[in-house]
This record gives sequence, C-alpha cells and structure tokens, in this order.
Amino acid sequence: METLLQIIGFGPAALGLFIAADRNGRLQALLDGGVQVHERSASFSQWQCLAYAIEANSPIADFLRGIRSDGVFAQCLRQPQVQRWLQNPEQVVSLLEVSAFLRQLAQVILDLCRDQPKAAIHFAHPVASVRSSASGFSVQGDWGSSHSRYLVLACGARVRELLPQEGAAPASLCSDRVLRGQADPLLLQALEQGRPLLVLGGSHSAFSVVGYLLQRFAGRLPAAAIQVLCRQRPALWAASAKVAPALQAQDLIDAESGEVNRFCGLRGAARDTLLQIEAGTWACVELQIGNADPRPWLSRGALLINATGYRPRVPGLLNATGVSLTLDERDGNLCKHPQTHELMVGGQALPGLFGTGLGYADRRGDTLEVGVNFFHGRCAGNILHAVL
Ligand SMILES: Cc1cc2nc3c(=O)[nH]c(=O)nc-3n(C[C@H](O)[C@H](O)[C@H](O)COP(=O)(O)OP(=O)(O)OC[C@H]3O[C@@H](n4cnc5c(N)ncnc54)[C@H](O)[C@@H]3O)c2cc1C
Repeated sequence: METLLQIIGFGPAALGLFIAADRNGRLQALLDGGVQVHERSASFSQWQCLAYAIEANSPIADFLRGIRSDGVFAQCLRQPQVQRWLQNPEQVVSLLEVSAFLRQLAQVILDLCRDQPKAAIHFAHPVASVRSSASGFSVQGDWGSSHSRYLVLACGARVRELLPQEGAAPASLCSDRVLRGQADPLLLQALEQGRPLLVLGGSHSAFSVVGYLLQRFAGRLPAAAIQVLCRQRPALWAASAKVAPALQAQDLIDAESGEVNRFCGLRGAARDTLLQIEAGTWACVELQIGNADPRPWLSRGALLINATGYRPRVPGLLNATGVSLTLDERDGNLCKHPQTHELMVGGQALPGLFGTGLGYADRRGDTLEVGVNFFHGRCAGNILHAVL
C-alpha cells in the first residue's frame, strides 16, 4: 500500500503540518493519501516538547491563531484556560503551559489517526537512515523500514557542540538541560564551591538561562557569580511602533509585520533580562561583550553552560546506490529551494524531501523564520501544497 508522506519527528513542527492541513481544509486528503509519523520517544507519556521552565518568547496568540476554530482541534480551544488566553491573546505564558496545550493537540492527532487505515503515529521509531530513490524515500530504523512518495524531516535540532579551541569541557552543561530543570544539583554544587557560572552565547537560550538562574538561585548568587560571554551585543526585537526605535546599523525590519529583528532579536523575558543586566539591576551578572573565549574562565574553575545555538538533527541520507548525501546547510539551518521549498544537496533540490521546524526554518530576507512557533508560518502550508 503506497504511503503519500512520512514525517520524521512528532514535535511542535510536525503538529504544525496537521494544524495547517486542518486550517486549509486538506486534513482528510492528507490522511486518505497515507501519512506515517516516526517518533523516537518510547511512548506518548514521554512527550515533553517545549517543556522549558521559562516564559514563551512571544504572545500566546502565536500558538493559537493558526488553529481553525471549527476544525478538529476545536475541542482544545474550548477549554476554559484557552478561552481565557483567547480573550487576552497578547499575554505571554510559561512554556510549560504551552507544552501542556501542545500535548492536547498531539492527542487529537493520535486519536484521529487511530481511526484512519492509512495514517499512524509510531512511537519508539527512531529513524537511523533514509534512502532516496526515484520512487520516493525508504526510512529505516531498528524497528524495520517503510516507504513513501514524500518525506518531511521534522526532527528538530540539538545544541551545537563546542570545538576544543572554543573551550569544550567534559563537565560543561548545555542550555537545554538547564532550562528543563535537569541540572539544578550541579549548578547548586558549583555555586557552593564558589565557582562562577559561565554562560556562553548571545542567543535567546543564553539570556533565558540567565533569567532561569536568577529566579531559581535567588539569594545564593554573589557578585559576578554569572558571567555571560557574547561575541557581540545581541539584537533586540521590537514591535512596530508609532515612534520607531532608534535603529542600529545591523537591525532588520520585517517587510510584512514591520517588526524590528522579528526572527533574530531577543524577545520577551530574555530581552528584559539583557536590558536589566545592562542597567546594572543584577550585581551577580556580568556581561562580557566581544570576549567570548571561555578558556581563561575555565582555568579558574568556572562551570560552562553552552548556549551558542542549535544544529539540525539529520538522519543519515543515502541515494539509490547507497552513496551518502549531505544536505546543504547555512547558519545552522538547512537550505531550501526558493521555489519548490525542497531541501537541497549540492545546490539542487532533492525532489520530494522537505523540512520544517528548528534547524529547518524557512528563510525570509536576511533572516531565518525562527524564534516564533511553527504553527502559523508559511512553511507547513508550502509543504502541504507541494505534497497534496
Ligand atoms: C530555550 C528555548 C525557548 C524556546 N522558546 C520558544 C517559544 O517561546 N516559542 C516557540 O515557538 N519556540 C520556542 N523555541 C523553539 C522551539 O524549540 C521550537 O519552536 C520547537 O520545539 C521546534 O519544534 P520541532 O518540532 O522543530 O523540534 P523538537 O521540539 O525538537 O521536536 C523534534 C521531534 O523529533 C524527534 N526526533 C528527533 N530525531 C529523530 C529521529 N532520528 N527519529 C525519530 N524521531 C526523531 C524528537 O524526539 C522530537 O520529538 C524555544 C527553544 C528553546 C531552546
């Protein structure tokens, strides 16, 4: 039985494909065509996408406005909590709450696929490799293999690994672990030993980590306990305002929304944290702009937290004869053909292969469409248009 589409990963970006199909009235066509999702998590109970103990970086409206109010996800919108969000869509809520909401959307998709003969979400299906041929894609893992005409990579990204010359240290932490609350004992131990906490990077994650540390370890942070090392001062997001903010030479204005640094600037709580540090609000935090070499700090015993960005997770990709293919990548994100939106190898589109989500964002002008969620952007719509 021919399957139209396989999706690798069942995170927020994969949910976005189903949400966009529902929004565009194409969900039944997608399910009838055949869709198989391969998710490496052992079971749905382990699904914890976006479960970070920090505020979302944009208003709750960003998570809600792409969902069709009379579609299959309507029941999720009817809950009292979500109704309160809809009445005040500009509020920013915790990502833990957002994650719980996304989980409900995921549950709707699971229930829906259960009743469809040609659709399934497979947990405990890590994909190790993909073989591309003229007829489509064979996806393989220790669970077996399956074939489809089209393939979407929605496997997210992992924190970029540091090189030895950048200060890679065996005992260092990554921002992801800190923000999931999994590194608290190690951080506390370092503070008790009088070791500085060294946050490396000027990303949203970096200033989210600083905000997290300030909140979690309030009262235990002596002067200069947290050092933030950035190559340059991060850009700031700003909403379009009647009085335009003074622009820096490198600021980017989004042509559609008028926002400043929409996809590349710090937003929300991370932005506030940077501004507070610069205003001298926190004696325990020092900002080292232009000096991002952690090695002198490490030699003094600092505990490094790597927040230098993300790199896409890509399963091994082979052509029909078994030769390994490398997808084109730029700025830590995979490249897409400007017209077909397919992923590319050696400057050419690979027919039928698409990507969405972190590490697979669309490009808009000089920036990547990251930092706001993947539910209402154009990416999912473009993929569905090509596939259906
Ligand atoms: C600190 C922080 C704050 C953020 N704040 C926001 C925010 O406020 N708003 C926002 O929209 N975004 C935010 N993001 C970005 C956020 O991570 C993405 O929007 C979202 O998680 C991306 O979803 P995704 O599906 O691309 O990736 P993921 O969430 O990583 O999901 C990928 C899925 O693919 C699975 N997978 C991976 N490899 C394989 C494989 N080989 N085989 C099978 N399955 C696989 C994984 O298990 C996972 O379930 C934030 C990110 C960070 C780090």
